[in-house]
Amino acid sequence: MADRPYIVVTNDDGVQAPGILALATAMRQLGEVIVVAPSINQSASGHKKTLFTDVPVSEVTLADGSPAYSVGGSPADCIAFAALGLLPWPPAIVVSGVNRGSNLGQDITYSGTVTAALEAAIHGVKAVAVSYANRDANAVEDYAEATRVATEVVKRTLEKELPPLTILNVNVPPCDRVRGIRLTRQGVRIYKDELAKDGNLYRIVGPEPTGNYEEEGTDVWALHNNYASLTPIHLDMTAHRFLADLAAWDITV
Ligand code: MN
Repeated sequence: MADRPYIVVTNDDGVQAPGILALATAMRQLGEVIVVAPSINQSASGHKKTLFTDVPVSEVTLADGSPAYSVGGSPADCIAFAALGLLPWPPAIVVSGVNRGSNLGQDITYSGTVTAALEAAIHGVKAVAVSYANRDANAVEDYAEATRVATEVVKRTLEKELPPLTILNVNVPPCDRVRGIRLTRQGVRIYKDELAKDGNLYRIVGPEPTGNYEEEGTDVWALHNNYASLTPIHLDMTAHRFLADLAAWDITV
């Protein structure tokens, strides 16, 4: 089976989260899988790179008995470590998820699920991030529809090329069967965060973010209408459409 693609699977919910076991199981239908993931839940850690402390790595066993690497750092650390010598490199693809909860609009800058995929792109490897918009998905079986969608996207991505520094961000709505998959752009999230205070202890709390559901063609819109979303994302965060207006500010030094 030497021609089976080598697939690295990671996440941000932690190595023992049900979503990564569901994803790894699905990816084993497509190739040889190695799992490397944070030892604890690193959701909303963004594109964190651990530089100033040592990071422990251990070999652990997932609930189905399969082996995995558990990394005491961020999701991006997992992929950086893999690329820099922890794992055979390069794989044919890095697949990140399945995340518990969606990663839409501005979420992607917070998301460890997405940033692990971006880290793979920095290291020149194709990557797909997969999120399931159901925060109550606590069993491996709950991720069946998300892994079905992920499998179709990964299968095609293995056959195709992605441009440099570009990944695919996939989100799956919480339903038994999606209406299909839509090619989308990033939409606009609306956060309803509140600051909880207990003495000198503060914490961001509040309900799940909503979004602008009116703008057709966005990831937020697709999920709201029970479509899976497929958004290509790249690391060039330049506001290209603003460059001309900015030039008119005429800043000189
Ligand atoms: Mn997460």
